[in-house]
Amino acid sequence: MQILDFMTKEGHEQLLVCTDPAVGLKAFIAIHDTTLGPACGGCRIWPHPTEEAALEDVLRLSRAMTYKSALAGLDLGGGKALIIADPRVDKTEALFRSFGRSIDTLGGKFIVAEDVGATPEDMVHVAKETDHVVGLPLEHGGSGETSIMTGLGVYLGMKACAQEKWGNDSLNGKTIAIQGYGHVAENLAPYLIAEGANLVVTDIFPDALQRAEALGARTVAPDDIYDVDCDMFSPNALGGVINPHTIPRLRCPIIAGGANNQLSSPEDAKTLARRGILYAPDYVINAGGIINASCEVGMAYDEALARQKTEGIYNTIQRVLRMAADDDITTAQAADLLAEARLQKARQP
Ligand code: NAD
Repeated sequence: MQILDFMTKEGHEQLLVCTDPAVGLKAFIAIHDTTLGPACGGCRIWPHPTEEAALEDVLRLSRAMTYKSALAGLDLGGGKALIIADPRVDKTEALFRSFGRSIDTLGGKFIVAEDVGATPEDMVHVAKETDHVVGLPLEHGGSGETSIMTGLGVYLGMKACAQEKWGNDSLNGKTIAIQGYGHVAENLAPYLIAEGANLVVTDIFPDALQRAEALGARTVAPDDIYDVDCDMFSPNALGGVINPHTIPRLRCPIIAGGANNQLSSPEDAKTLARRGILYAPDYVINAGGIINASCEVGMAYDEALARQKTEGIYNTIQRVLRMAADDDITTAQAADLLAEARLQKARQP
């Protein structure tokens, strides 16, 4: 991978490479764009098989954060951190403290929150070394689990999609196939069950499947989720799951889920549109977490404000879907154009 070429092409500002062999730290911190404010994004902990895969992941994720915050109306830029490690076995206080010291060297240009593999408790260790952390537990004065608002936002985004597709936003009786039953999905599923939806869930871990079954979901093997005949497919695991191999298998009129970077390339959005599948752009529908964290930046956390702003995701999704339909472009293109318009406005002298 030609790192500088990639970063120049995608508009990244900075990349910090962090190592600390004494504690096993290998991490990247990518800062994409700080036009609207300090870069803010989660810290993902994942054992990527190669450095190149990890680097591409963190660079793509940081760019999505710029667009996500821009479209959510936040005064934050886009960034992301990635610790290459197995979150089930490698996490230690020393690792997070070392990571915190790396973040501190950026002097507030990057504010970290939790993401896949990390918890608010992990952020407490990071906060021992730097002030530039959000998503701390409520008892530490933070906004707590970001996935609570992410789950709410995904639910409301699903309803906005239903309204666009069926002229009615009820999910009662609809079958929803959920890929990944982690923090986001566990905060989404209760809304869907309460509304009378039928859930089909998959995960790679048996304990996650057991939790889904306890809520009344039917479970399937990970690879079978793409073949489920359903009303909505909801990716809530990792990225790249909507790709030329999976799209022909999908049997759903709507894709609406919380995972970041769901499309393997922009071409996938065109293929989905050709197949008549309505796609809720990932960074629009999953903005609840960053909205929640933003209500902790520079102020005491305000949960009511976080909820109110997260509820705005319904209208934002509607705006994106309307623009795509009116201008005959993909929903992904519509979201990008709206986000870029806000960035352009902020850049004007
Ligand atoms: P998580 O780690 O709690 O949950 C992810 C789940 O997906 C895990 O249970 C994991 O076992 C499962 N999984 C991984 N690979 C899988 C596969 N191939 N098939 C099926 N299941 C698989 O993470 P999370 O916080 O729930 O985040 C999920 C997604 O949502 C990620 O893409 C994340 O970047 C995105 N997201 C999260 C938040 C948030 O607030 N946590 C906000 C915005 C976006």
